[in-house]
Amino acid sequence: MKHFPIRYKVRIVLAPPDKMEDCLGQWYLSDDEESGVIKLANNLSNDTLVDTLLEEWAHARTEGLEDVDGREDPYHHATFWSELGRITAAYRENPVRAERPAKK
Ligand SMILES: [Zn+2]
Repeated sequence: MKHFPIRYKVRIVLAPPDKMEDCLGQWYLSDDEESGVIKLANNLSNDTLVDTLLEEWAHARTEGLEDVDGREDPYHHATFWSELGRITAAYRENPVRAERPAKK
């Protein structure tokens, strides 16, 4: 498995869907730009949780990179998709098979 370090300290939190801003996951960089948070909805299936974590990881990895030509979604630009592809390919080589504990 390749490793994809993030240059910030990253905290991963699970949040109820009503605390999410109409999305499954979010990446935030703190104002001091030394740490960030990946927030994931806590009601996702394991597969969707992994997909969302990989996407937010790619956002963290491409933080600060600008959309080069102004035609693209500023957050989902070509560099982001390229990074998500690399991370997803690495994950598929070595996927996590663990079950999450059942919710109570
Ligand atoms: Zn995204």
